Amino acid sequence: MNLLNIKGIGKKKEEILNKMGIFSLLDLYKYLPKNYEDRSKKVDVINAVPEIKQYFELNIIEISKTYFYGKNKSVSRAKAKDETGVINLIWYNDRFTLRKIVVNKTYKFFGKYDQEKNALINPLVDDLNDDNIGSIVPIYKTIKGISNKELSKFKDNLFASDFNIEEYLDNDILSKYRIQEINIMYKNLHDPKDNLSLYDSIYSYYFRNILVEKLVSKMYRDELNKKSLSYKIYNVNKLKNYLDFDLTKSQEFAIKDIFDDMESKNRMNRLVIGDVGSGKTLVAIFAAYQAILNAYQVAFMAPTEILAQQHYDKHKDLFNKIGIKSAILTGSTSSKEKIIIYDKLINGEIDIIFGTHALYQDKIIYKNLGLVVVDEQQRFGVNQRKAIIDKGESPEILLLSATPIPRTLALALYDDLSLSYMDTMPSNRLEIKSAYMTIYQEKKFIDFAYKQILEGRQVYLVVSRVEDTDDLESVHLMKKKLDKYFNKKINIECLYGELDSEKKIDIQNRFANGKIDMLIATSIVEVGIDVPNANTMIIYNANQFGLSQLHQLRGRVGRSDIQSYCFFVSSEKIKIDEKLDFISKNNDGFKIANKDLEMRGRGDLYGKNQSGFIDLDNSFLYNEQLLSDVNKLINRDLKINSSLEKIINEELYKYKDIIMN
Ligand code: ADP
Ligand code: MG
Repeated sequence: MNLLNIKGIGKKKEEILNKMGIFSLLDLYKYLPKNYEDRSKKVDVINAVPEIKQYFELNIIEISKTYFYGKNKSVSRAKAKDETGVINLIWYNDRFTLRKIVVNKTYKFFGKYDQEKNALINPLVDDLNDDNIGSIVPIYKTIKGISNKELSKFKDNLFASDFNIEEYLDNDILSKYRIQEINIMYKNLHDPKDNLSLYDSIYSYYFRNILVEKLVSKMYRDELNKKSLSYKIYNVNKLKNYLDFDLTKSQEFAIKDIFDDMESKNRMNRLVIGDVGSGKTLVAIFAAYQAILNAYQVAFMAPTEILAQQHYDKHKDLFNKIGIKSAILTGSTSSKEKIIIYDKLINGEIDIIFGTHALYQDKIIYKNLGLVVVDEQQRFGVNQRKAIIDKGESPEILLLSATPIPRTLALALYDDLSLSYMDTMPSNRLEIKSAYMTIYQEKKFIDFAYKQILEGRQVYLVVSRVEDTDDLESVHLMKKKLDKYFNKKINIECLYGELDSEKKIDIQNRFANGKIDMLIATSIVEVGIDVPNANTMIIYNANQFGLSQLHQLRGRVGRSDIQSYCFFVSSEKIKIDEKLDFISKNNDGFKIANKDLEMRGRGDLYGKNQSGFIDLDNSFLYNEQLLSDVNKLINRDLKINSSLEKIINEELYKYKDIIMN
């Protein structure tokens, strides 16, 4: 059986699915929604809550003519009722939905309630017997040529076939740890029965992922610890003298931890956890310098090309000055250049190589890899980390965290790693000034940004999915609007995942060099980007992001001694988002991580998120109950049977490149 056997999938759709990384039925089975929209609870008109999307069953009383104005603009209206009251239906710039309804019939509507107008704004409509509204709807990440509805249909058809995957946990373990059987879990993730069972499925999903990840890392940890390199610790003042600032206390401590590990008989396996902007990269650069003084090579791996390129650009002059040969290797390195780099790596003519997943390709042979640095380590699977580590005899391992997390949690999550905590920030920093705004204050913060640009600063503007558009569309719409508003007086460019990497790096470079005033981006800028002259961050639809993600985004500014600003913009009219309120008043990443846990810990997955989304993100990584249960299972109850062994081995040797932005 392959994709073409599924009803609805022909050659054309198969091609599109391939582009999304879906090649087999198993891939399709495991392609999970990125979040869900809760259209399950029916609300009576009398109980409508302002600014929140809700589901109603309404009988149509009256349909008005569509009114056209301006260029491509229209308003369509209708009136409807249920037993409790009358409500208006208004569609802006959508004259088609109206044609689906007739007077005196009852339909399901899903939309946001505007109290002033007593109306649902641009509501979705379903026939009463259609089950799209009135349920929890999975939202998949899709690309052009395939819609969410189609993808859901394909899944339905897949589930209607007898395709199944093998369960690797025994029944008594499933029931003791309240984990859903693996096929039940997948089916429910794609087509949730209700909120409660969906919560259980998500829990089960993360439980399984963390379990396998831990088993895999346990498996090769023992192997790793057998050997260790002998390092002699040299003085690193030469590097220090080239910096135009002092190291922070935290940086000094972390570097000392690392050198102690290198000197000891055991192999280093250390994770540096620090707040956004605390200077983790530089700690790794010192580790690299020490390794190179010991005549070893260093591989410095980052999750995206932009990030790898930035690390390389930022340090190549410094390395030149102290006689260190550096290079960069990514997916977009030309094949001619690749061959030269492979040659130099094997001959030891490169001391440190920066790159992405490209660093552990089969073809690459290092002469003597003595240190592996993995930046933003959570973005790599354990198997990917193993792949790069296996490129050396027994290299020391240094991981840099992506997000700050509290110590107790880190201990449960990373029980096989040594930890260095960085909780002091470089002393030249001013606190970022943050504000919680609504979209109705747009002119205010856009004009503010313009003033900053006139003073020579640069601005990030992050947009995410808005209703009925995808990320890409939102980015371009925003550019069009602002180009018009500024009359092209400032230089605006867009950055998003779908751009090819050459273009991405070009834009990143020009932004870093001050040639671009404003960068309109998707959350792609969340990861590690470092442009100290950028001092203003505007995040649209901020209520759609998680707390930690918002903190990461804000961390793109405030990276120098310039005063920085961050605007969290909600799409709601009134400021009711607890999350946005909190983050606009707090700057400490560890405190924010705690709040994040506290809010997630409440278990009301829907209550906190006004837009009605639950995200299938990494939140459960931070669920202490889950982590301690996984540890309990591993230490007490788990018998590794042959199907589990198969999974572990598959994971261990699956050096699958995950394409990330
Ligand atoms: P993160 O910990 O988020 O990865 P980076 O390593 O990107 O942070 O560092 C953020 C910025 O701070 C960089 O521009 C870096 O050069 C600068 N920096 C690092 N250490 C110091 C320091 N001790 N004093 C001043 N600036 C520093
Ligand atoms: Mg970083």
